Amino acid sequence: MPDSFDLIVIGSGPGGYVCAIRAAQLGMKVACIEKRDTLGGTCLNIGCIPSKALLHSSEKFHEAGHALAAHGVMVEGVTLDLARMQARKAEVVGANVKGVEFLFKKNKITWLKGAGRVVAPGRVAVDGAEYEAKHIVIATGSDSTPLPGIEVDERRIATSTGALELEQVPGHMVVIGGGVIGLELGSVWKRLGAQVTVVEFLDRLIPGNDGEVAKQFERILTRQGMKFRLSTKVTGARVEGDKVNLTLESFKKGTTETITADVVLLAIGRRPYTEGLGLAEAGVALDARGRIITDAHFATNVAGIHAIGDVIAGPMLAHKAEEEGVALAEILAGQAGHVNYNAIPGVIYTWPEVASVGQTEEQLKEAGTAYKAGKFPFTANGRARAMGMTDGFVKVLADAVSDRVLGCHIIGPEAGTLIAELAMAIEFGASSEDVGRLCHAHPTLNESVKEAALAVEGRALHI
Ligand SMILES: Cc1cc2nc3c(=O)[nH]c(=O)nc-3n(C[C@H](O)[C@H](O)[C@H](O)COP(=O)(O)OP(=O)(O)OC[C@H]3O[C@@H](n4cnc5c(N)ncnc54)[C@H](O)[C@@H]3O)c2cc1C
Repeated sequence: MPDSFDLIVIGSGPGGYVCAIRAAQLGMKVACIEKRDTLGGTCLNIGCIPSKALLHSSEKFHEAGHALAAHGVMVEGVTLDLARMQARKAEVVGANVKGVEFLFKKNKITWLKGAGRVVAPGRVAVDGAEYEAKHIVIATGSDSTPLPGIEVDERRIATSTGALELEQVPGHMVVIGGGVIGLELGSVWKRLGAQVTVVEFLDRLIPGNDGEVAKQFERILTRQGMKFRLSTKVTGARVEGDKVNLTLESFKKGTTETITADVVLLAIGRRPYTEGLGLAEAGVALDARGRIITDAHFATNVAGIHAIGDVIAGPMLAHKAEEEGVALAEILAGQAGHVNYNAIPGVIYTWPEVASVGQTEEQLKEAGTAYKAGKFPFTANGRARAMGMTDGFVKVLADAVSDRVLGCHIIGPEAGTLIAELAMAIEFGASSEDVGRLCHAHPTLNESVKEAALAVEGRALHI
């Protein structure tokens, strides 16, 4: 008799491990299959956590060399110990993945080590052994999207995985793709001394984000020394010795040229990962983009098989995967699990940070929704001035009739933390007046959120 479980989750990323924990909390007998040597998925091993460790460390390096003098803190002879910085990153990752292992033990979740494959509804194979489960959850995440003609070796031409592991600061890094991952990792290596050129197919950065924020973001990053080649396509990459020659085609100018890089970071997006899972044999349907098709309860077309996280539709974000993991575990336990996709914040952890939740102005215009916008710049916020971090603004969008908050877009210091208040406002169906009347501590950056909410009715106090 094979071992049997109430739930077997395939993949231990933020979707899978959180689903496993919540199901165990609700009394289910749970196993989670992971083929990596460590738990935590892309997020903890090669994504969110190592990138944020390097972003934080590189920010400290940049601050020591360039920003502390303005505060009267004189530091001389700042040098970079990249090996130490990388070792620290590895320690941060190690502590996080061990944390998930501890949580598995605490919640009596069995970790089945190896690659999982669906044999049939209710049956899963892991490295030759078979297991039974009432419910199977696929949470196998994503990997980086390849670009035809560009061969990744993770050294000269790297995805985010290789770009997190560089042992030397490249002289010139060319980033293909002006999205979140490219700009975050481009920022890391720029701060550590690389010249960074970002090549983007579209005529703007961070597609999908608020257009006004994207423009300001491009201006600020340009001021920091990053170079942008928008409306430009990379048509080929040739490694020659220690260099990579990239051919670019500009749509606007109609020209072709070659640029040389020490390291190329390919960051044009991520695609769902379903390789070797036996989905075709099991009859699980995928959409045109290779994502597993699910209904509002995360059920696939095959009874007993569910899917969550990056492998299904929706924003490829760790917290989205986590919310789905919780909701699905609750649904499987007979409760009413639910995810409000309109209240999922998105954050870019560059300097300054960019954060958004809800609808953009572009989306509201397209939908024909009448809205009002309130904006407040950090230059008028006392705390931002005290910190010497006045780049950016907060923009609150509210329904023109009901005043309900529909969206918020922030570029500025701590934007990723500030956005939580507006995610809560959207979740609770608050009006901009509710946010504007809430007492915010002084002096805090959050006062800019209050002021932007007041500005919706043209009654900001400090501008
Ligand atoms: C560089 C980078 C930075 C990022 N930064 C952020 C950020 O700051 N914030 C944010 O919200 N998101 C960020 N993301 C995105 C985030 O990592 C993903 O959205 C998130 O990890 C998705 O979670 P998941 O559980 O769906 O899958 P994943 O985290 O991808 O986990 C899937 C797991 O399944 C395992 N697996 C796959 N197939 C099998 C199999 N057959 N058998 C057993 N195991 C299998 C894989 O080994 C993997 O461990 C970042 C991503 C990258 C690459």
